[in-house]
Amino acid sequence: MNNSKIWLSSPHMGGTEQKYVQDAFDTNWVAPLGPNVTGFEADLENYLDSNSFVGALSSGTAAIHLGLVLLDVKPGDEVICQTMTFSASANPIMYQGATPIFVDSELETWNMCPLSLEKAIVDRISNGKKPKAIIAVHLYGMPYKVEEIHAVALKYEIAVLEDSAEALGSHYKNKKCGTFGDIAALSFNGNKIITTSGGGAIVTKNNEIKDKAVFLSTQARDYAPHYQHSEVGFNYRMSNICAGIGRGQMEVLDKHILLRRKMHDFYKDYFESIEGVFVLTEINDSYFSNHWLSAITIDSTKLNGRTREDLRLALEEENIESRPLWKPMHLQPVFQNYPYYGEKIAETLFENGLCLPSGSNLVSQDQERIKNVLDVFFK
Ligand SMILES: *Cc1c(COP(=O)(O)O)cnc(C)c1O
Repeated sequence: MNNSKIWLSSPHMGGTEQKYVQDAFDTNWVAPLGPNVTGFEADLENYLDSNSFVGALSSGTAAIHLGLVLLDVKPGDEVICQTMTFSASANPIMYQGATPIFVDSELETWNMCPLSLEKAIVDRISNGKKPKAIIAVHLYGMPYKVEEIHAVALKYEIAVLEDSAEALGSHYKNKKCGTFGDIAALSFNGNKIITTSGGGAIVTKNNEIKDKAVFLSTQARDYAPHYQHSEVGFNYRMSNICAGIGRGQMEVLDKHILLRRKMHDFYKDYFESIEGVFVLTEINDSYFSNHWLSAITIDSTKLNGRTREDLRLALEEENIESRPLWKPMHLQPVFQNYPYYGEKIAETLFENGLCLPSGSNLVSQDQERIKNVLDVFFK
């Protein structure tokens, strides 16, 4: 029997990626600039909407970092960040010498809770400091509560940096994720919905800000024949080789979203009849998730005390990868001494939650192998 590893989310090439990479070699554009970079940016701008101006960068983390720089986050500033996320949402706050303030999730989208957000802002202001920015995340591709979060941000006039690293192709009320924040970040890491082997992009609202981001990402060189610098720069630009992979991936993005959503339907159907398992799903038609990862929570009191860890081990036994949900940032040793506002929702999700294999490249035999483990575990 075939027992090859079933991954949570692995790269899935469409076929034309190598053509773009070959073009780069043929024309000797083997550099952090060139026609693939410009082409990939145009593809992303067309995909998002006409008000998006995209700069291709070396990673999603670089995009979040440059986003904070462009929002003028400085040492000593406070930045609010969703606690339930990957550390790359929060690390750039530290790069800027600023202070992260962590905010809990709500139970419907698992993303930042608008009520806890407002409590945090009010308390920080009463302590004498208004937060400089809010980092909100569309976890696992599920849009956060866009209207509620942005209403709070607007009320207190605080900029939103939208971490859309996991949510390319997701939308809320037919508006794409990555277009809501003052600035947004995308990621094309190897495990994301599309990949450039490693890469990211910053999404801005106009050409000047995009140009500024690109300027900062290429060492902040002033206009001069020699190397002249008036600002601190970064080496964050995407290479023309990686962008070639990205252009090929853009051709299959919507197809791969459909396949990820089919994996989600597979789990949704499977767990419908099993009491004690909840599958993260859109709460209404306004939300559309790319279902980058399908995620469940397990109520062990309804499953004879068996936990998500028991299920993870049962899957691992059959060479199937699954992973607990993101461990909240305020529980991480590196961040545990920073302020946290919430009701322990993220903590509970982490304790009971598991991400299941979700790749667009999983085939029916893979589903069958997953189903066999679930059958033994739940019946
Ligand atoms: C992947 C990811 C990032 C970072 O992107 P990289 O391209 O890996 O640097 C940031 N935030 C979230 C939520 C992510 O999942």
